[in-house]
Parts: sequence; C-alpha cells; structure tokens
Amino acid sequence: MFDRSLRVTVLGSATPFPRPGNACSGYLVEGGGVRVWVDAGTGTLAELQRHVALGDVDAVWVSHLHADHSADLLTFYYALLYAGLGTALPVPLFGPVGIADRLAGFLTNGPARSPVETAFDVQELYDGQVARVGGLTLTSRAVEHGLPAFALRVEDEDGRSLVYSGDCEPCPSLVELARDCDLFVCEADGETPGHHSAVQAGRTAAEAGAGRLVLTHVGSALAPGEAVALAAGAYEGDIVHADPGLRFDVTRQGRTVTRRSRTPGRTTTSPASSR
Ligand SMILES: [Zn+2]
Repeated sequence: MFDRSLRVTVLGSATPFPRPGNACSGYLVEGGGVRVWVDAGTGTLAELQRHVALGDVDAVWVSHLHADHSADLLTFYYALLYAGLGTALPVPLFGPVGIADRLAGFLTNGPARSPVETAFDVQELYDGQVARVGGLTLTSRAVEHGLPAFALRVEDEDGRSLVYSGDCEPCPSLVELARDCDLFVCEADGETPGHHSAVQAGRTAAEAGAGRLVLTHVGSALAPGEAVALAAGAYEGDIVHADPGLRFDVTRQGRTVTRRSRTPGRTTTSPASSR
C-alpha cells in the first residue's frame, strides 16, 4: 500500500539561470505510488537527488524546450544509460513536439543519431492530452509562450489537484486547466510577452478559483516578498513563494500543508487558506 498523499517539492525556481542554492525550474511531484519530475531546468538533477533516487523517477514531464526548463534532460540521459541505476528503461518522457530530435541532435558525437529512445519513451504533448502515470492523471494544455509550451494539471485518485503554469502569459486555457485546483504553481517572471507578472499570477489564480497560490520563476526585478505582496492585491487566498526545497502536501482546498524539507526539525505549518 503506497503513501496516499499528493505532494510537490520545489527543486528550483530561479530564472533565467541558476543561482547558488537555487536551480532553474523543476519540481518533484509524488503521489499515486509514483514520482514525476516536472521540468528539468538547469541544476534540478542534483536537487532531485535530495528527495528521490534517480532510478526511482517514474516519468518526466517538460513544459517547453527553453534551457531553464529542459537542460538537465541531457545529463539525466547519461545517468539512465551509463550510470548503472538499474532503472527500467525507457522512462516515459512527456514534452513538446520535437523533443526527441532536439535531444538526439544535441547529444550525438557524430552523424549517427543518439539513442535517445533507449533512455526515454518520448510522448509528445498536445493540447488536452490526458495521460496516466501510476495513480496520477496528467492533463496538459497548450499555453501562450511564443513556442510550443504546456501547463500541467495533476490529479490523484482521491480528488486532490495541483496545477503548474509552465512559462506563459495569461491565457484562457490556463484558467480552465487551473479551475478549482487545490494548489496552483504559477510563474511570475514579469509583465513581458510570454510571461505572467506577479499581479497577473494573482489574477489567474483568482479567476480559476485556485485554493492556494505558489509563485515561482519570479523575475530578477522583484524580491520574492514583493512578488507575493503584489499578487495578494489580486488574489485573496494564501500565497507562498517557491523557495527551493519547499514541499507542499496537497489537500483539498484550504488545507495544504507546507514543509521546509531541507531542514528537518524546522517544520512549519502554514495557516489555513481563507478560501
Ligand atoms: Zn523559464
């Protein structure tokens, strides 16, 4: 009998390059008896190993092919094929159209195609795609980022849900995907084409009726606390910044519990959401 909780751990939230102590975008989603690595941004492969053995990753889901969300697929590929992890290959890899060719082209040392498909069972995403991984349902929606890009909703068999925006500007498909979710992880890079500002992240969370908002991928123009304060002007629920190492146990709306997983003994419990 597996642990029936649904949780997400922040592996990194820096943009557009990793900082000491904060990798680029990446999250570990655990639930339904499986572990899914969501976005493989620079530095997240190392952080992932704080929480799970690499051989125990059941699937990888990548929102888009910008390096700050996908670069560590390159090193994961080597680990899977050459590090003797004992993983059952290939590992399911969900990503935008062209992801297999992109990896194969980057990794090859000559005219021959790199054996990407030996490491990964590549499944290209499309708008509205629904996939099952263990006891989790993964729904992907196309979002606006100026290139093929997706947001993700993860639901477990007990009805808990979390939604991740990937990188995108405000768009109806994201609001639909995030409708009434328990936890909404939304980027807040800044008010530029292809991204949300902190205020816009708050608005999207409010429009969707999300139970709780986690601000991630906050651009360098704002400190995390400033971004949270700005989002709070548009969204009445609880808002937390995606500090690296933070873990969220997702429960039905209003009862999500936050733990700082890197510092055992300093567990904190957030106040209940007002929603
Ligand atoms: Zn990004």
